[in-house]
Amino acid sequence: MDCIFCKIIDGEVPAVKVLDEELVIAFMDINPSSKGHMLVVPKNHAENIFEIPESDLAATVKAVKRCAKAAKEALNAEGITILQLNGKASDQIVPHLHIHIIPRWKNDGLSMSNWEMKQGDMEKIKNIARKVKEHLS
Ligand code: 5GP
Ligand code: ZN
Repeated sequence: MDCIFCKIIDGEVPAVKVLDEELVIAFMDINPSSKGHMLVVPKNHAENIFEIPESDLAATVKAVKRCAKAAKEALNAEGITILQLNGKASDQIVPHLHIHIIPRWKNDGLSMSNWEMKQGDMEKIKNIARKVKEHLS
């Protein structure tokens, strides 16, 4: 399969690995948004959150916690942004699920929470929540 992250997992493409477990690897992002930006990736190919089996997801999230803690301690990070994108509309570029760990410092100039915050209409919010709840499985 022509998947850059599968190639990294198979060792065909080099990467600076931080963690290599049975089900999960973590490696440094080649275009770091901050010092220590890394990606935690399940070894079995799954494009997104909708496709990944629960067991692979659980292992990935566990590894995210370990890596986030290690990055925070190693780099004296003041915060960690954890980001995961699904689909082109959400700006996902690599179609192999991955979770970004982005160490943060006060006034580091990064802004990942600058979407517009405006007072919502409670009736509309409740109606949307009701629709979502109907689809919970
Ligand atoms: P996303 O799909 O979540 O938008 O972002 C994909 C991320 O993967 C980007 O941050 C990009 O820099 C990173 N990336 C893409 N190709 C490679 C690669 O070959 N090696 C590494 N280490 N990171 C990559
Ligand atoms: Zn893949």
